[in-house]
Amino acid sequence: MRVAFTSDNVAGASDSVFKAMMEAAQGDAMPYGNDDGSAQVTRMLSELFECDVDVFLVSTGTAANVLSISALTPPWGSVLCHQESHLLNDESTAPEFYTSGARFVGIGGADAKMDPAQLQKLVNQKIEDVHSCQPSVISLSQVTEVGSVYSLDEIRAITDVAKTAGLPVHMDGARFANALLALGCTPAEMTWKAGVDIVSFGATKNGVMASEAIVLFKRSLEDKGFSSEKVAKELGYRRKRGGHLHSKMRLLSAQMISYLTDDLWRINATHANAMMALLQDGLKTVPGVKINTPAQANMLFCTLPLPMIDHLQAEGFGFYGGRWEEGVIRLVTSFRTPKEGVEAFIASAKTFAAQQ
Ligand SMILES: *Cc1c(COP(=O)(O)O)cnc(C)c1O
Repeated sequence: MRVAFTSDNVAGASDSVFKAMMEAAQGDAMPYGNDDGSAQVTRMLSELFECDVDVFLVSTGTAANVLSISALTPPWGSVLCHQESHLLNDESTAPEFYTSGARFVGIGGADAKMDPAQLQKLVNQKIEDVHSCQPSVISLSQVTEVGSVYSLDEIRAITDVAKTAGLPVHMDGARFANALLALGCTPAEMTWKAGVDIVSFGATKNGVMASEAIVLFKRSLEDKGFSSEKVAKELGYRRKRGGHLHSKMRLLSAQMISYLTDDLWRINATHANAMMALLQDGLKTVPGVKINTPAQANMLFCTLPLPMIDHLQAEGFGFYGGRWEEGVIRLVTSFRTPKEGVEAFIASAKTFAAQQ
């Protein structure tokens, strides 16, 4: 493949991450997260989020999502998320499995952002009706599954509904850094200051090998009447039960430390977002191409004539789509997308369009 726009997880990992793992692999360290590096991750994330946090590292984004949510919902609860969310479409039945069968309810809304009005209706439905599931958690994805980004006001509109209903809010931040840079705000502003209580802080798609942090904002949960201590304790048991308590946790911690050191996370996401901006600007100048949802971060859905898709694939460009919904493709840039690759893609699309 000449250039892959398939996903941001087709890229490997940053050199400094592997270097940090090599260093962490020397000598002995206590297992299961009882090492100095793991304590350092919690300190670094507390600093990044400007508050007291509990941290649970796991090795997939799916585990971060479903474990976070499972600690906040009873099996008779319902979890409200967008109908296009990763939770509902891309995590098999892990959500049901980890929550012991809670109901995941898809909410509508443009650009894969939940519509607060629809949410409002659902959080008030059949409360304390023993025959119905009980709204327990609200989960939003930032970046969303179509590449849009909730503004701070849009996050607030969701979390205000949650607050009135007394529900905790989870953020699926598989592309947390990309969203943050798109908004140009601080991690605190995009999360607990905007009413989010727990985050799946993704790092794998943005330059590490396999390390994702569940970040629990203690104070935010307490303010909603939850015992953060109880939730954290439960998360500990659930992570072990779910097979994500790595004995060599120090290697996951080393990745996260490296990710948070010298602004690696920022540098990587800045590059990915810049490459998408270049790609999107270029595509706008290609006849026959339609932008479906304007990309704000590093993912774009657009519609191309089918023969153009065939041409680009034959030229060695990788991406998903083309056949699931006629002409719709998904393009994703990463921390490692080469600028020349973006330029070559645009040039190739333009050459094809000119021949028609
Ligand atoms: C990639 C992704 C995840 C995590 O997926 P894993 O493959 O389990 O690491 C979660 N949410 C969203 C929106 C994603 O794009």
